[in-house]
Amino acid sequence: AKLSGRSQFAWYTAEMDSDAQKRKEIEDGLTKALRLDQFEVLFQPQYSLIDNKLKAYESLIRWEHPTKGQISPELFIPVAEESGLIEAIGDWVLFHACKEAAQWEDESLRVAVNVSAAQFSPGITELKVAQALQESGLHPSRLEIEITESLLIANTDAVVETLNHIRSMGVSIAMDDFGTGYSSLSYLSRFPFDKIKIDRSFIKNLGKDTGTDAIVTSIIGLGRSLDVTITAEGVENQEQVTLLRAAGCTLVQGYLFGRPDTVKAHETHRARWSET
Ligand code: C2E
Ligand code: CA
Ligand code: CA
Ligand code: CA
Repeated sequence: AKLSGRSQFAWYTAEMDSDAQKRKEIEDGLTKALRLDQFEVLFQPQYSLIDNKLKAYESLIRWEHPTKGQISPELFIPVAEESGLIEAIGDWVLFHACKEAAQWEDESLRVAVNVSAAQFSPGITELKVAQALQESGLHPSRLEIEITESLLIANTDAVVETLNHIRSMGVSIAMDDFGTGYSSLSYLSRFPFDKIKIDRSFIKNLGKDTGTDAIVTSIIGLGRSLDVTITAEGVENQEQVTLLRAAGCTLVQGYLFGRPDTVKAHETHRARWSET
């Protein structure tokens, strides 16, 4: 037993070593990526279920590695968060997304930008947002910041103050991945969100499981009574749309409506559709 215990320990160490090594490799790669301009921002459309029109795009970062190909943000964002690189990467996305959105032909379209809790710093984040708006010329009402509840766990007055400051500029604040945290509901009373995004994990089971249906319906009802717009993310089929519409959900985002892509590609796709 002692021997197997030891070999097990050795196995874990090797595992940990290679994990740490991989992380270090990604971290070094990220520093280079910033310098060599290997990042790209793709946009995923959000449609209204009220008038069926395109309303916004969410910005999603992509890393085009010269030899490894495209690396998923699911893999590198956590490393960026742990290493502190998320600040520079997040700034890059914010400025890039605002600049691009300011050039869209349709000036009614809004742009959503993910701001990680690790990137957020009171006193600085609001300055970055103001600077991105000023440099790009994007109207504040067209920008939306997506945060997750991990930012509000600490719930310091400074965080709430910063969020309020950003809101007072005319920028809206959305709570992302709603329902996945420990106490999502309690944050709603502490901060006046403009929007709630129901996490994909709930939408996935919509129509398959009565428990999920009930949860989604109540989140949508809650949003209505709090006067908060509800977006459903990860919508992949028509059945989900039908259920969401019936429950009173107003905005949808997901592969059914378009994968993250360049805005130009989305426009070409839409033009083809309207021709047929
Ligand atoms: P998120 O903010 O929840 O973004 C939504 C993710 O769901 C995106 O993955 C999107 O491609 C994916 N998705 C959208 N619709 C569907 C669908 O119908 N089905 C399925 N299966 N997936 C769908 P992506 O682009 O890989 O990003 C993953 C996560 O990485 C994001 O989750 C976000 O947490 C993070 N991330 C991406 N870009 C940024 C960024 O610029 N800054 C920060 N801080 N985080 C980012
Ligand atoms: Ca998001
Ligand atoms: Ca999300
Ligand atoms: Ca997510």
